[in-house]
Amino acid sequence: MINRKDFIRSGLFGLIPLSVRNLIPQPKASGPFPVVISTWNTGIRANAAAWEVLSKGGYALDAVETGVKVEEADPKNMSVGYGGRPDREGKVTLDACVMDERGECGSVAFLQDIKHPVSVARKVMTESPHWMLVGEGARQFALDQGFKAENLLTPEAEKAWKNWLKNSEYKPVINIENHDTIGMLAIDEQGRLCGACTTSGAAWKMHGRVGDSPIIGAGLFVDPNVGGATATGLGEEVVKTAGAALIVEFMRQGHDPSVACKMAVERIIERDAANKEGVQVGYIALNKDGAFGGYSILNGFTYAVYNEDGNRVIKSEHLI
Ligand code: ASP
Repeated sequence: MINRKDFIRSGLFGLIPLSVRNLIPQPKASGPFPVVISTWNTGIRANAAAWEVLSKGGYALDAVETGVKVEEADPKNMSVGYGGRPDREGKVTLDACVMDERGECGSVAFLQDIKHPVSVARKVMTESPHWMLVGEGARQFALDQGFKAENLLTPEAEKAWKNWLKNSEYKPVINIENHDTIGMLAIDEQGRLCGACTTSGAAWKMHGRVGDSPIIGAGLFVDPNVGGATATGLGEEVVKTAGAALIVEFMRQGHDPSVACKMAVERIIERDAANKEGVQVGYIALNKDGAFGGYSILNGFTYAVYNEDGNRVIKSEHLI
């Protein structure tokens, strides 16, 4: 009889529709599950929503989607979804992606007028033959899928943009006040590890700019046999070192999640050390056994963890 691994290798696996593939049992992981981890202090609220799903035996992908939607809907979060700071033309443009326990993924970038890009990203994964849709194509797809178009520019965000226009100076400085991209990783009771990442990106970016957050391997990566990682901070730096995929590879080599995050942060500095003044990137990682960690370039990065020990914020270790 052909075993699961050989079956996947044979290429026949790819011919099975996703809905049926989801019924095929996965190898079980071991750790203290469920667990959910997400970027920044704001992750605490998102974790609580994700925990509602996880604690009832729910699916990790539902948990991360539910969790990050809390931030997408919050007008006070200036870096995610509704209320996100616009680009320099006053347009709120959103990037998001999801990745599931099979390494399937979906993504949207440069999406306008849709409050929950993470849910559109999930639909790209399940309802389209592609992994990523961008711009007007992503918007049309979302509308076809039943999402409604709405104005995401809050009066506060508009005011901040008009204020910025007075000097129109663009400094890609990432800090705790202006950057709370949410990246979230969760393992459910059955050991299924899934992730999501969603952002409005860098405030006052050029129209059309896409950061790391919707890029699989940069802003988010999940390998069901190893673990997952996700990023916040200056996307241009994360992409140039394939941050999340790099962390997963370091974990594959046997490093703890926090060590793997540290090594990926060091890689950013090594690449171009002369130009790192004020640059912030924060990483979090969760391995398949439920061990987690984080690391950032600069002081000030935090992440939130919810497991059997409760929901709490952890101050990340940092390089500088
Ligand atoms: N990583 C996001 C981006 O570059 C921004 C952030 O995390 O704040 O678009």
